[in-house]
Amino acid sequence: MSKKIVIANWKMNPLSVKAALKLFGSVSRSLAKIKNTKVVICPPFIYLQNVKKFTRKALLGAQDAYFGEVGAFTGEVSSEMLYDIGVRYVILGHSERRAEGEDNTLINKKLKAALASSIIPILCIGENIRDEKHEYFSIVQSQVTECLKNIPKNMIPKIIVAYEPVWALSTTKNRRDASPKDCEEMVIFIRKTIATLFSREVAGKIKILYGGSVTPRDTEDFLKEGGVDGLLVGRASLDAKKFSQIISIAENI
Ligand code: PEP
Repeated sequence: MSKKIVIANWKMNPLSVKAALKLFGSVSRSLAKIKNTKVVICPPFIYLQNVKKFTRKALLGAQDAYFGEVGAFTGEVSSEMLYDIGVRYVILGHSERRAEGEDNTLINKKLKAALASSIIPILCIGENIRDEKHEYFSIVQSQVTECLKNIPKNMIPKIIVAYEPVWALSTTKNRRDASPKDCEEMVIFIRKTIATLFSREVAGKIKILYGGSVTPRDTEDFLKEGGVDGLLVGRASLDAKKFSQIISIAENI
């Protein structure tokens, strides 16, 4: 059985190196006996090297990476640079970046660069709303199709897809909970889309996660009934106790 994947997206938190090390230390301690779960922590860029020194069982991820290796891209950090300091995962296409103007074409370039640098991309996709005409399926279909455009078939299983319905994220105003059933239905649709684009074999191999206000309370339901290989956790990953509980539930499923 393949390992469950639990990824922490710290976003632009916490406020200081000291607080980052404290949070990382608490989470790391709870990983001592973990065998069946892969845990990836994605802090802000500025803390990556600090927490790296204390990494034993947790893997390190970044929250974005630019395409290209080096060059005149003020303010950007490339996948090559991240690989050099020990980062092996990167979140790409998060809805908070899409809201700032990032589109599928740019995400596609970043994905290709991450793969070329041997960094595993965590590709975030998900609709903003669930409309009555079910147009959310075609939105997700376009995200998958455009983000994976011209990526060689043999590279696709290296990518992790995170299905994050924006309407269920903890930061969305008037948010509502997604159910494991909502998630399972979309995961089946994502696999079908990948099967059409590449092959059924590739679609069966790619790992798909769920993200959207996950807490210890619904971890088991999503992992057992949501059809996913793991979870992407935002707010609850900033609470060492809650995040450790999520890991321990994943470990024991
Ligand atoms: C996210 O934004 O990636 C996320 C999963 O956030 P939250 O768990 O806070 O909804």
